[in-house]
Order: sequence, then C-alpha cells, then structure tokens
Amino acid sequence: MQKKSYKQIHKNILTWYSQYGRVTLPWRNTQSAYEIYLSEIMLQQTQVKTVLERFYFQFLEKFPTLKEVANASVDDVLKAWEGLGYYTRARNLHKTAQDTQGILPNNAQALEQLSGIGKSTAHAVACFVFNEPLPILDANVKRILYRFFAVKEANDKKLWEMAYALYDIKNTYIYNQAMMDIGSLICTHKNPLCEQCPFFSLCQGKDEPLLYPTKKKKAKKPIRKRTLVIYHQNNQYALNKNDERLLSGLWGFKQEEAFNITKNMTELGDFKQHYTHFTLEAKVVLVKNKEQKKYFTIDEIHDLALSGADRKALGLLEAHLI
Ligand code: SF4
Repeated sequence: MQKKSYKQIHKNILTWYSQYGRVTLPWRNTQSAYEIYLSEIMLQQTQVKTVLERFYFQFLEKFPTLKEVANASVDDVLKAWEGLGYYTRARNLHKTAQDTQGILPNNAQALEQLSGIGKSTAHAVACFVFNEPLPILDANVKRILYRFFAVKEANDKKLWEMAYALYDIKNTYIYNQAMMDIGSLICTHKNPLCEQCPFFSLCQGKDEPLLYPTKKKKAKKPIRKRTLVIYHQNNQYALNKNDERLLSGLWGFKQEEAFNITKNMTELGDFKQHYTHFTLEAKVVLVKNKEQKKYFTIDEIHDLALSGADRKALGLLEAHLI
C-alpha cells in the first residue's frame, strides 16, 4: 500500500486525544508490563465497562504481580477469571506467567511467541510499555481502517498493510490509544459521528460509512439441549473437571445429552446460557447417587471455578434447598 502523508490527520488525532481521550483508564496510568498486558487480554473479548467494574482490580488484588500468577495453580487463576468467559485467556495467562517466570520480554517479536499473545496484543504491550512504535489492529481499529480507506473486505495481511500505512510512527502511543477510543466512541458500528472525527477530512468512507466493511449475515446459533444432572449424597454434590476445550479446567455438574428423567428424581428448573457459537438450553435435575468420583459441600462448590451455566444450576439447587 502506498504511503501517503497523513500529517494533518495525525495532528488532529493528538488534539482530539488531548480533549476526549480516556486518559484516566487505570491501564493508561501505569508502566507495569503485567498490568497493561492483563488489561489487553481482558479487553480482547470484553467491554471496558465490565472489565473496569468487575474484574481488573479484583484480579490484581488477588494476583498483584505476574510472578504470583506463575506461582498460583491454574484452578486459582480460573477462579479469579470466573464470569469473564473465554477461559482460554486465563489458561494462556497462567502458561505465559510460568513460561516467562513472571517477567515479560520487552519487545513485540518475543511477546508474540508467548501463549495467547497475538500480533496486535504483542504490538500493544510493546508500544504501551516499551515505546516500540508499532500499530495495533483490534476490532475498533479494523472498523476505522475499512471506512477510512473505503474497503469492503480485507484479509489480515491487507488490514495490517492499511494499519502500517495510516499510523503515526512519531506519536505511536497516543495514536494507538486514540484509535481504540475513536473506534468505540466515534466510528461506532451503527452510528458513526463523522463530523466529530479527526479522520473526517481524508476519510474515503464518510459519505456512507455503514457500507464498510460488508456485513456478514449472522448464522442462527444452534441450540444444544442438555440435562444437567446434580448427583448427591449426604448433602454433598458431584462435580467433574471439564475437559471440553471451551471450558477446560472449570468444574461442572454432569451434562447429559439424552437423559431419562424418572419419578424418583427432582426437577429443579430450566435455564438458557448463551455462548458465542451456540445456546445451551438446560434442565436441571437432582439425583441421589453414590457412584460419582468427587462430591463437594455447597460451601466447597463456591470456592471452585464454575462456568456461567453451572453457576445457574447451582442457583437452582440453592433455591431448592432453602
Ligand atoms: S469520518 Fe466517519 S467513517 Fe470515517 S473514520 Fe471517522 S467516524 Fe469513521
């Protein structure tokens, strides 16, 4: 891609950021590689508000340094991640903490070799902590690039070319932070505020921004019907460690695809749980049984890392026990 001069745009971005940038975000007020890396991982699939209000500080209170993550069990890390979803992130964080012995490398190339750190996250950490002048490419940045260059479809190679063509190599820290803010505050999915945008003068997509990128038709999510069976004996309840990729490492009640509910079982209720690729519709039943491997008291279950679905099943069980 031909490198044009975007001097004026870069100047506009600096001015815009000094007025509207979210400069008070805690990960913009630290030089700790771990704290910045943690924020990048949490923000990969979760909104700023949720991360700020419910997870970031709580996680740091439990694990103030990456060394403490390395020294913890993966179960403890998953427990601190509970509710944030996409648990692969937590398992990779733990692996990276152990692989680096709690000290992250100081450049993007080495960061990118670590578990769960893709090119954009590596660039973000390298830029925000070590001042490496590299562009980032998260979902917000991609949307701006599609619109700015009026491109309807692009693969990652092309998107990186656009990112490199547009970024401000002299003020990369502010440019990257501003791109994230402009993407979430100005160049939004449904209602871009072009007249307030620092890219406005040269943006090629500003007349019809919603044309870029081409919207993919969302496939309807399949529904998985399951029975969550809570086996119990002597006020203890059976849980197993999940080995399904999505929830690997979390504890859960037994899930059955075809399960015959008989008279001597107690039906506790139903719930739905939405995942990225499917919706779980579950019935929960309580069954007396001694054959399962591990049984826990209710208090012990509260100390385990559970998926959202199992937490809902636990809620139904507790309501039944009142
Ligand atoms: S001018 Fe409009 S379409 Fe272009 S980057 Fe800004 S908000 Fe997005």
